[in-house]
Amino acid sequence: MSHARSIVAGLVAFILLSSLAPVGSGQAAATRKTTKLKSQSTQPPFKCEKPKFRIVVDVGHTPDAYGALSARNDPEFGFNFVLAKLITAKLKSEGFAATRLLVTDGKARPSLFKRVSAANDGRADLFLSIHHDSVPDKLLETWEFDGAKSYFSDRFSGHSLFVSQQNPHFATSLLLARMIGRQLKQQGLHYASQYTLPVMGRYRRQLLDKDVGVYRYDGLIVLSRTRSAAVLLEAGSIINRDEEMELNSSERQEMIAEAVAAGVGEFCDRR
Ligand SMILES: [Zn+2]
Repeated sequence: MSHARSIVAGLVAFILLSSLAPVGSGQAAATRKTTKLKSQSTQPPFKCEKPKFRIVVDVGHTPDAYGALSARNDPEFGFNFVLAKLITAKLKSEGFAATRLLVTDGKARPSLFKRVSAANDGRADLFLSIHHDSVPDKLLETWEFDGAKSYFSDRFSGHSLFVSQQNPHFATSLLLARMIGRQLKQQGLHYASQYTLPVMGRYRRQLLDKDVGVYRYDGLIVLSRTRSAAVLLEAGSIINRDEEMELNSSERQEMIAEAVAAGVGEFCDRR
């Protein structure tokens, strides 16, 4: 993993430099007029032309504020980066040429507003945030990994999808999340059902789709402040010792990336 981590660090340094430039600014200028007209209406028709559909694939957290720590002490940011990069590549190969990988730096809370600005300034149509899950601290157990006291919880596993009712395109966000969830289910993957349980405390959420695991998370900045449709994917639990290994495998990563691209593709085809 340390080798993998150094590769990730190198890639991050490269992408941090390149991702700060507005992507497709020429195209953005060309289509600004149309977008402006669209955004002025309260319920604009949500169109999708694959080459023009601007998707921002957001790598959850930053190298400094790396999110959760896995059962084997690897930071969530690295998992998010690898998967988000793969999802971006899949979307592009499916014809979504205006897909952009967003890597943000700095501290946690300011980075959330940087993400929102990047999406809104770039006139995104869809903001897709990629994360990996953990559990509340009170559920953590200890074990020894690599000679060090480490934390895990094998109690829960699975992916989950979140949308905010405060997002101006809530209905579209929910539809997209459902389509992605359905594709993940078709791959034989299960969703994390624990978010409805009292044990989750302040992380408890309303389950909007009990078939494919879409939850409501109104207050999340990246979902509520983005002017585009927005979906957050927790791809699986890295604090679960078995699932961490699966999420580290290229097979699982490919499976998730393909499911996400297929879900967004299905959404677009139906517009
Ligand atoms: Zn996260």
